[in-house]
Amino acid sequence: MISESSQRTTTGKGVRTLRLILADQLSRSISALDGVDARVDRILMVESPDDAGHAPHHRQKLVLMLSAMRHFAAALRAEGISVEYVKLDDPQAPTHVLEALDQAVARHHVTRIIATEPQSWHQAEQLHAWQLRQHDLSIEIREDHRFLCSRKRFSRWMDERSTPRMESFYHQMRRETGWLIEEGHPEGGRWNYDAQNRKRLPSHQPVPERLALHPDDTTLEVIALIRQRFPSRFGELSPDSFAWAVTREQALLALRDFIEQRLQAFGDYQDAMRAGDAFLFHSLLSPSINLGLLMPREVCEAALAAYREDQAPLNAVEGFLRQILGWREYVRGIYRHSMPAFAETNFLGATRHLPAFYWTGDTDLACLREVIHTTRQNAYAHHIQRLMITGNFALLSGLSPSEVEEWYLAVYADAHEWVELPNTHGMALFADGGILASKPYAASGAYIRRMSDYCRNCLYDLNTKLGDHACPFNYLYWNFLIAHRPQLQANPRMALPYRTLDRMSDQYVRAITNQADAFFDRLPSDR
Ligand code: FAD
Ligand code: SF4
Repeated sequence: MISESSQRTTTGKGVRTLRLILADQLSRSISALDGVDARVDRILMVESPDDAGHAPHHRQKLVLMLSAMRHFAAALRAEGISVEYVKLDDPQAPTHVLEALDQAVARHHVTRIIATEPQSWHQAEQLHAWQLRQHDLSIEIREDHRFLCSRKRFSRWMDERSTPRMESFYHQMRRETGWLIEEGHPEGGRWNYDAQNRKRLPSHQPVPERLALHPDDTTLEVIALIRQRFPSRFGELSPDSFAWAVTREQALLALRDFIEQRLQAFGDYQDAMRAGDAFLFHSLLSPSINLGLLMPREVCEAALAAYREDQAPLNAVEGFLRQILGWREYVRGIYRHSMPAFAETNFLGATRHLPAFYWTGDTDLACLREVIHTTRQNAYAHHIQRLMITGNFALLSGLSPSEVEEWYLAVYADAHEWVELPNTHGMALFADGGILASKPYAASGAYIRRMSDYCRNCLYDLNTKLGDHACPFNYLYWNFLIAHRPQLQANPRMALPYRTLDRMSDQYVRAITNQADAFFDRLPSDR
């Protein structure tokens, strides 16, 4: 069990304090930098080949992480703070952050280490195990204060509940922050304006351009490094295709751009999808928040200020707030509270290998093709694309949770295990058996047609239920319900689809399962 903030002091003399900053701890206010003394302290930052080399990360994600780290180190140095920085292309580079830590300790006769506890459960375990092996060092592992709900507070909330759902956590957080609360009640009389946030995007509706953030010399250098080192990796990468914020200044520009250009319509079209428009009215802020370039609090406060100044309607601001104050905090809490057991569950017994087209986009299913292509282009897909297109297909097809999770962790610029895993394992795949979601997010093609224009350019016919031209999501949906009746039938939220299924003839049910089996037989695996 990991403590929130632990300190182990042993004997030893020395003057230097070494402060460890990890790749996603790029905040000047990170707890590891509290009380930093530029005269005697040293910062250690490591571009870990372990992180970069082993998971097949999208090349834009690698550039984002490395360039943001290099810029952060430069900003600390500009303050006069001494930074020991290990680059990925350094031939002497250690393969792991802890190896770099050992070497730095030996080189500088360090007597004290300060770190902020990693969000990744595995990294935190390794750091705590390393801490136990040190006998001549004072090691302080501080809590990460950048979240709006502390781990202790979340655990207390969990302990008080038999079904710890996000919605009740979110109400609690609204009460505690006072955000969109008026005299103890939710602003406008409702906690949740989701019902207003499911509009289909009219074909004529203009969408703002993505903010152009041009790579500077540091980013160009990293782009060249990653292209040379990983020439055939997943993900487009060129100076023209890279537009992620790599500094706090750029991230603040992106925040302002979102508030001014897109927040207003964020709520209305939150769930909409349109071919050729990857970003719509989404904020694209998750990579900056997850790396620490923006604080979740300031992002929420910027949206609340826009509401108070009449620049954005309540459904948009509440919808946006719920994603950060609600979902983001909730999934982090569940992850830290439930690991490692959480990742090991496989409630639906899903074992099919990930199809190769998740990497190539080479499929006849237009919705999947569109989302995978834009993922490759941008290292981005918005929530509904992740949940209801690639996630829904993985759920209906019984794809192995660990293979699907590896894919999500690799392909998105914002992917870090603490946030990716609960979303994929719990929300998209229902592999946790219903901790995150009260029922599986399974949908037939009708949902995809309602929320997107993808079906217009598809080889398959959405209105056909069976046969060569039938939309595969249609029969895969019913096949999923048939296959998982033992696990799902007792779920009251599944009663309606099971009643519909029960009205189907045995012959029709057999035709569904036969067609699903034939479809699965044709799926090319990536293994
Ligand atoms: P917006 O739509 O503008 O939302 C605003 C912010 O809310 C986001 O920037 C993000 O910080 C937060 N947010 C929204 N939804 C969630 C959520 N479900 N969980 C946590 N935070 C949320 N998000 C990640 O940050 N990293 C991941 O690795 C990740 N993996 C996902 C995997 C799956 C299968 C699914 C269904 C969702 C995943 N999400 C992940 C959540 C969500 O899809 C992204 O946060 C969002 O698409 C990021 O784009 P945006 O910044 O434009 O978000
Ligand atoms: Fe996707 Fe089916 Fe629509 Fe094709 S018809 S785009 S497979 S939902």
